Amino acid sequence: MKKSLLLGLLFPLSALAQDYTAELKNYIKYPATAKTAITDVTLIDGTGSQPKEHQTVLIENGHITKIGPKATTTLPPDASIIDGAGKTLIPGLVMLHEHLYYTLPIDSYFNVAEMPSSFPRLYLASGVTTMRTGGSIEPFTDLSLQRMIGEGKLLGPEMDVTAPYIERKGYDIPALNIITDTALAAREVNFWADKGCTSFKMYMHITRGDLRNVVKEAHKRGLKVTGHLCSVTYREAAEIGIDDLEHGFMASSDFDENKKPDEFDRPGASRALQKLDVNSPKMKELIQFLVQKKVALTSTLPVFEPAANREVIQGGGESAMLPQVLEMVKKRYNNALANDSASSALFKKELAWERQFFEAGGLLVAGTDPTGAGRTIAGYSDYREIELLIEGGFTVPQAIQVCTLNGARYLGREKNIGTIQSGKQADLVLIDGDLTKDIKNIRKTTLVFKNGTAFDSQKIFATVKEKIGIN
Ligand SMILES: [Zn+2]
Repeated sequence: MKKSLLLGLLFPLSALAQDYTAELKNYIKYPATAKTAITDVTLIDGTGSQPKEHQTVLIENGHITKIGPKATTTLPPDASIIDGAGKTLIPGLVMLHEHLYYTLPIDSYFNVAEMPSSFPRLYLASGVTTMRTGGSIEPFTDLSLQRMIGEGKLLGPEMDVTAPYIERKGYDIPALNIITDTALAAREVNFWADKGCTSFKMYMHITRGDLRNVVKEAHKRGLKVTGHLCSVTYREAAEIGIDDLEHGFMASSDFDENKKPDEFDRPGASRALQKLDVNSPKMKELIQFLVQKKVALTSTLPVFEPAANREVIQGGGESAMLPQVLEMVKKRYNNALANDSASSALFKKELAWERQFFEAGGLLVAGTDPTGAGRTIAGYSDYREIELLIEGGFTVPQAIQVCTLNGARYLGREKNIGTIQSGKQADLVLIDGDLTKDIKNIRKTTLVFKNGTAFDSQKIFATVKEKIGIN
């Protein structure tokens, strides 16, 4: 109480509260300046502990100021009351492999195009209050969106912006940033860090030397490096000091016996993973090594989800798609059904390996990677990531922890965000239903609190119809 009084004296309320444009105010149900209480709600607090029923949470000046049993928690008389009976409250999602772009091929070549209007909205609407982009193709757009979201001019989560991919020649993906030597890799770090990027992502054809230089420069500035690797193994990257590895173990080339240093052989790496036993001691050794080196692992299950008997657009987002683009995705989905059995088998193992990593004490974080064959789209696939963790045997509180506290820990922001605790920033998602009865209830988001401002989730979703594919 004393603390908030002091804060009020130092900063006038107007400086504390986020200002929003008149247009954006249409999506706000409760401003951060209001005292808001959610009563009688089931609380999943992000720490991994069991859900607590009949809880009341008070939000004042953008912060959580009180949590307790409904029966004994007193509230200020001027607080707006939200009846949380039958609802679940979780922390705002902290997702670490998001993109502001989406798969749109150029002729027969894989490529991606920025979706600066639809994607930030969809992330926020689905409950993502903080995200790291997992590599950028339009860094200036990403950085401007970050600023404009912060200024209350656009809807979207808080963003940790990753610089353009650091990659060597190899793939014909026109949007990729290509470097030609190791010195250039280091220069990229400083150039983009000066522009405001706070994270770096190595890609599939880089060398150990490139990674060494990038890690050195980034760490000097207190910034982190992740990778979607292939030419460098997970073990090599961990030895060099990488902070995070993308796509669970799906991008690991560690098990390819014919692997040559710095050489890219994606088919060889895939074959080795297909052959690897789910309980392989070699995988256990790698997991132990990564845990010991404190390397995080990012789960991006939606982008690997098999096709048969599963949704075309994950999380139920078909209406958000431009019909012509949806048509294209459906065609690809139908083609994928032909080799679904191999990817199904590997997907099952991937689920198990991620759980093994988590249970070994590894920092498992999550994201969606809205690229691939186009079935994975912003927001809707964030729901799906949580559902797929449950399919992999995580408990509901564990899956929520992976998508909240663990992300916050990776970003070094766990003192402010990631759990529902008194004193923390009010980043919260109110869901209509009980997640422990049916995880699909995660799709029924009603209110998303970002820094204390409560946004109407469904109203935001309603603005993104037939848009993905345009912008
Ligand atoms: Zn990605």
